[in-house]
Amino acid sequence: MSEPVKICIIIEDGLVQFILSAGVPVEAVVIDYDTEGADDSELKDVPQADGSTQPAFVRGALVEDDEEARAFTMRAHDLAGSDDDDDGPSLFVNHYTCPDCGTDWQDEWECAVDDDCPHCGKRHISPHESEEA
Ligand SMILES: [Zn+2]
Repeated sequence: MSEPVKICIIIEDGLVQFILSAGVPVEAVVIDYDTEGADDSELKDVPQADGSTQPAFVRGALVEDDEEARAFTMRAHDLAGSDDDDDGPSLFVNHYTCPDCGTDWQDEWECAVDDDCPHCGKRHISPHESEEA
């Protein structure tokens, strides 16, 4: 198990309902600057970029990362238009020729892998050519 990703959720007017993760362990801290009616003892001084501090609620938050949360997170990122395609594995078109029966075929894989002859069933034939799809 990898170390949890540490994230910080900062809110000013509003309420965080849920924090969801796509199956990655996440530890979240919520910083809430909406301190109206708060007891001073509940507030922490949060350092600001300009060197001053600002009182806020600072608390750990539960992050859900079960199957449902994962599915929801993936859909939400789709809706937000985040484009993970560049990170995905690229497809290769592998060209094979069977040394036994001479059958030529091609197949798409995520890497240059050995394949079995679709005609005679000879196994572990390496592609003689491999190009990105
Ligand atoms: Zn063959």
